[in-house]
Amino acid sequence: PTVSCKVVLASAIAKALLVEVTADLQKLHRIPRLHGYLANKDPAARMYADWTAKTTREHGFEFTLHEVDREDLEDQVRVANTDGDVDGIIVYYPVFDTRRDQTIQWTVSMFKDVEGLSPQLISNMYQNIRYLDSPNNTQKSILPCTPLAIIKILEYLHMYNPILDYGRRLHGRRITVINRSEVVGRPLAALLANDGAEVYSVDVTGVQEFSRGSGLTKQKHEVREMEGWGLEQCLSISDVVISGVPGDKYKVPTHLIREGAVCINFSSEKNFTPDVKERASIYVPAIGKVTIVILLRNLLRLASNRPENDIL
Ligand code: NAD
Repeated sequence: PTVSCKVVLASAIAKALLVEVTADLQKLHRIPRLHGYLANKDPAARMYADWTAKTTREHGFEFTLHEVDREDLEDQVRVANTDGDVDGIIVYYPVFDTRRDQTIQWTVSMFKDVEGLSPQLISNMYQNIRYLDSPNNTQKSILPCTPLAIIKILEYLHMYNPILDYGRRLHGRRITVINRSEVVGRPLAALLANDGAEVYSVDVTGVQEFSRGSGLTKQKHEVREMEGWGLEQCLSISDVVISGVPGDKYKVPTHLIREGAVCINFSSEKNFTPDVKERASIYVPAIGKVTIVILLRNLLRLASNRPENDIL
C-alpha cells in the first residue's frame, strides 16, 4: 500500500523562518553580535558551537567564539554582560555537568540571554507573561530555544489556528510531550498549554496534564497528576505527539499513536520507528536546524530591545 505520510524536514522549516529573520535583520540597520563560550571538551558542544558559527555568519550576524577555562567562565560572562559590543551570549553546556551549570546560566544577563534560560525569563514563561515592559507591551520576552523551535514547527504545520485570538490558537488540540526536562519538556508543555492546548506531559515517573481548563478560563496553565495514566491513554487521544527521550533504546509504540497524528522527534536519537509513516499524517524526524534559527531570532530580538543610545 502507498504511504501517505508527509515527512517534513527541519531544513525546510528553517528556511521559511530564515526569510522572516533576514527581513527583520534588515530593519535593524546594524549587525547583531553573538558571543559563544566553550569551556568543555564535549564533541557535541564543539559541534554545536561550529554550527552556530556557520549559521550566524551565513545569515549576516557576527559570531565570536571564546574558548575559556571553565573556572574563568563566570567572570568572562560577567564581562560580556556589561560589554556594549555584545548583543547576545551563548554558553555551551555541559560545563561542569553538575548543579554548578545552573549558576552559570543564572549569571548570563537576561538582556543578552539568547537561550532564554535566565530565571526571570523562565518565570515569565511559566506565568504566561509575554512582555518584558508590561503594560506598554512592546518588548516580547525571550523564550527558550528548543521549546520555541517546536512551537514554530507546529505553526509551520498549521496546528495553530489563526482564526482564534493570539494566545488561544491551540484551543481544542491535544498534545503529548514525552520528556519533562527543565530545558525542553516542561517549558514546552507549559507554553503549549498557555496557548490553549491540553497537554499530556510524560516522563519516567508518569503523566501530568497541563491545561488552562475548560473554555481556557484560567490565565495560565495548571498542572495535575494523571493517576493511572500511561502512554496508551495519552496517545489514543493526541493530535500531536512530540518525543525527546535520550538514548537509542526508546521507541514510541506506533500502534498506540492515533491514525493521522502529527509526530515530531526532538531527541538526538530516533524515538519513532520507520512504521510511524504508516500511521502519522505528518512526521518531523529532527528539529536541530530550526533551533539554530530560533537562536538567531532571539539574538535579533535582544538587539532590537536595546535602547538606541546604549549601542552608540
Ligand atoms: P534529559 O535527560 O534532561 O531529559 C530526558 C527526559 O525524558 C526526562 O524527562 C525523562 O523522564 C524522560 N524519559 C526518559 N526515559 C523515558 C521513558 N522511557 N519514557 C518516558 N519518558 C522518559 O534530556 P534533555 O536535555 O531534555 O534532552 C533530551 C533529548 O533531546 C536529547 O537527545 C537531546 O540531545 C535532545 N535535544 C535536542 C535539541 C534540539 O534542538 N534538537 C535541544 C535540546 C535537547
